[in-house]
Amino acid sequence: MSEEFSFRDIVELAQDVIIVTRAEPLDPPGPVIVYVNPAFTRLTGYTREEAIGQNPRMLQGLDTDRNTIHEIRARLDHDEPLHVAIENYAKDGRSYWLDLSIMPLRNASGKTTHFVAIERDVSLQKELERQLRELAIRDPLTGLFNRRKFFESIDEFRARFESDGVPFAVIDLDIDLFKSVNDSFGHDTGDKVLQEIASVLRSHCRPEDVPARMGGEEFSVILDNATAPFAFEIAERIRKQVETMPILTPAGQRFVTVSLGVALTDTRDPGPDRLTKRADEALYRSKREGRNRTTFRPYGEVSDPPSQEPPA
Ligand code: GH3
Ligand code: MG
Ligand code: MG
Repeated sequence: MSEEFSFRDIVELAQDVIIVTRAEPLDPPGPVIVYVNPAFTRLTGYTREEAIGQNPRMLQGLDTDRNTIHEIRARLDHDEPLHVAIENYAKDGRSYWLDLSIMPLRNASGKTTHFVAIERDVSLQKELERQLRELAIRDPLTGLFNRRKFFESIDEFRARFESDGVPFAVIDLDIDLFKSVNDSFGHDTGDKVLQEIASVLRSHCRPEDVPARMGGEEFSVILDNATAPFAFEIAERIRKQVETMPILTPAGQRFVTVSLGVALTDTRDPGPDRLTKRADEALYRSKREGRNRTTFRPYGEVSDPPSQEPPA
């Protein structure tokens, strides 16, 4: 039994964008558009008249990924269907992300005469994915990277160090007597101190460095492509800047200090966690030796006895 309805009506009603092009020529100027549905005009701002006779490349722009464009071309060359995500541009210049499928349409003798592209705007999902990725690697209070991102980065930096030998450093930082800040001025002031210190760290980092809040009032920084004197110098600058930074508390201006530990990669390190361990030991020594100081811990020094408590 055959029902009476028009497939064209269905295509015109679809929320997804549908574009039909001729199959040839694939070389420039490329296959021309012979049909677009109303959803195309709603998404792109181009009328049917403006689109027909043009090439779908009219929708690509500066940020459209070149590799994706090449992949599309390679598939079409082989007369194969494809499914990709691609960034396109509307008539007003606004960019949007598409989930794009292109399929060959064949005539009765099996020859591909046209391609049909079916596209859905996935910009919102892309943006949510980006926000989720951000959330997964950021500390919400300070906006610095979090512990997870720090250790992911350490693995990446270490892999690179093993292949190209470019050394990097780790600075550990712990606020001195931070409990008393909270106890005297309240948790909100404590949080403000954490944010201020985060911005000091940020201001001493280059884009390739990784400043992180590891939890509580403990921070770590990976300094890319560093020498021992350079890393020590950065740590000292951070320390001095914090020391002279007035903190506004309910009781007026106050000052806090921080203790730091610095360590540098060494090819003789037996395991991947030796570097962070050395930075940690260096920090511990700064605490023990009176706080508000920086310790650099070179490779090979005997470990500090772990039982000794820093002086109060
Ligand atoms: P030390 O010089 O030995 O480091 O002394 P300290 O008082 O800083 O001791 P410790 O490093 O153990 O301090 C931990 C304190 O940090 C406990 C808690 O009051 C405070 N703290 C941890 N996380 C937060 C936070 O997210 N916000 C605030 N306001 N305080 C925090
Ligand atoms: Mg601590
Ligand atoms: Mg502390």
